[in-house]
Amino acid sequence: ALDSSVFRETLEQADVAVSITDGKANILYVNPAFTRVTGYSAEDAVGRNQSLISNKTTPRTVYTSLWRKITNGQSWSGRLVNRRRDGTPYLADLTITPVQDASGVTVNYLGMHRDITLLH
Ligand code: FAD
Repeated sequence: ALDSSVFRETLEQADVAVSITDGKANILYVNPAFTRVTGYSAEDAVGRNQSLISNKTTPRTVYTSLWRKITNGQSWSGRLVNRRRDGTPYLADLTITPVQDASGVTVNYLGMHRDITLLH
């Protein structure tokens, strides 16, 4: 059986930018691929809100529908313009999944994204 260190090491080595947040999108964990894509180390990112990597150009209605879906217990996938630590924007293909406890309450969110700028 897989133990938790194997799960952790798998996330650490995954070639998709992964973040785990609390229920208000405050970052609790980022993997090395997140650092490669965004330029933010775990030290920079943990404790900040996910909006840290927003380019501030995505229409508010996108966020409203995203939050409506994830607070309703469903996954959301879509494309957003993010901004790296060095200021360069990139197109992100993002999936956010609510992580629920045994009683069905959302306690965390899992974010997974890739830079698809070159594919666009
Ligand atoms: P905000 O004030 O955060 O919110 C904009 C609107 O979203 C609000 O008006 C409201 O309708 C809704 N909203 C915000 N927070 C909540 C809440 N706690 N409960 C209910 N509704 C809420 N954004 C990106 O731009 N890029 C990303 O890569 C990205 N990844 C994310 C990954 C995860 C796991 C999660 C949970 C969120 C992610 N977000 C991402 C969304 C991010 O948290 C912000 O909502 C977004 O960046 C807009 O930030 P803001 O400060 O402009 O507006």
